[in-house]
Amino acid sequence: MTDDKRPGFATRAIHAGQDPDPRTGSVVPAIYQTSTYKQDGVGGFREGYEYSRSANPTRTALEECIAELEGGAKAFAFASGLAGEDAVMRGLLKPGDHMVVPTDAYGGTYRLINQVQKRWGVDHSLAKVSQADAVRGEIRPGVTKMIWVETPTNPLLNVADIAALADIAHDAGALLVVDNTFASPYLQQPIDLGADIVVHSTTKYCGGHSDVVGGAVVVAPEIAVPEFADAADRVGFHQNSMGAVAGPMDSWLTLRGLKTLALRMEQHSNNAERVVDFLRERSDVTHIHYPGLDSHPGHDLAARQMKRFGGMISFQVAGGEHRAVDLVGRTTVWTLGESLGGVESLIEHPGRMTHASVAGTELEVPADLIRLSVGIEDIEDLLADLEQALEGSR
Ligand SMILES: *Cc1c(COP(=O)(O)O)cnc(C)c1O
Repeated sequence: MTDDKRPGFATRAIHAGQDPDPRTGSVVPAIYQTSTYKQDGVGGFREGYEYSRSANPTRTALEECIAELEGGAKAFAFASGLAGEDAVMRGLLKPGDHMVVPTDAYGGTYRLINQVQKRWGVDHSLAKVSQADAVRGEIRPGVTKMIWVETPTNPLLNVADIAALADIAHDAGALLVVDNTFASPYLQQPIDLGADIVVHSTTKYCGGHSDVVGGAVVVAPEIAVPEFADAADRVGFHQNSMGAVAGPMDSWLTLRGLKTLALRMEQHSNNAERVVDFLRERSDVTHIHYPGLDSHPGHDLAARQMKRFGGMISFQVAGGEHRAVDLVGRTTVWTLGESLGGVESLIEHPGRMTHASVAGTELEVPADLIRLSVGIEDIEDLLADLEQALEGSR
């Protein structure tokens, strides 16, 4: 629950877990590029540090900061978003358990569930997470132990009702896990809305500068399902046992990125709104997917659940797949590339790029779809570049 006496978001992002170093006064947390620590006599650990897979002070700073930003009791930093997701699934589920997952989950998440967890006996069903009843319909009583949600989803920006899904999960004795990568903790606070666990690819908005791959898992202060009351200990045990931890340099870069998260998300949202206004004026843009639009089916829900609507947009163009593919190759300010959430604007064709692996399945995306990760460059430059690409493409 929100503690009103908690410092504001930007203050926490800049200070939580990052007190000046007591010895030197260093304002910025040091990069503790070390694997081991001197013991003062056998077992005489200084502040508990023994070996850097188990704990490292730079990683601790990042973990404390992310826990504060998400309103969690404990956070764990991993070498990638998928490593964190694996720790959640393998740390908390066992063979015979079942999970409900989004029809439009991030492709790597679905691959982990469908090709890795399944081989170890964890089954799943797909549901449209924007339809709470569809999720409820896939629950297998006593067997479903986890509902996995992304909101907004990738690349169609569907919005899921986190509070409603938390109730559905908890009634069934299952955990609600929210992948908060697209919104970031600045725009959306899943734990406040009832989620038990939040995961991030910190590679995206949290890091924010496209210079580091990382992941985080945040565990809520109170877990609604008694069977999982020790969820934080289990995720922590898995982090140390499997060892896919965030290194000191990566932790430091992510921590530096987090300091400007609030500013960046405001500017990503400002620029995205301007891009949407521009696209709306174009007769050759046939559909815009952005939760900030009144016409978006999840608009009211997103307005309640998110602070703003974020920097991700997808849209469809007249001229079909051929034109969409041609267009994404014509921009010069927008970089043609995968990933998202950095300061630089990216453009891509999901059907042939990020979502190529789901072609021919029920997760397939429209062939004329273009996805934008709107960066924080000057908006005039972004709009002029999109305009010339639209005009030139055929
Ligand atoms: C990128 C991404 C992931 C995976 O994270 P990695 O850091 O690439 O392992 C998971 N979920 C979402 C929504 C993502 O965008």
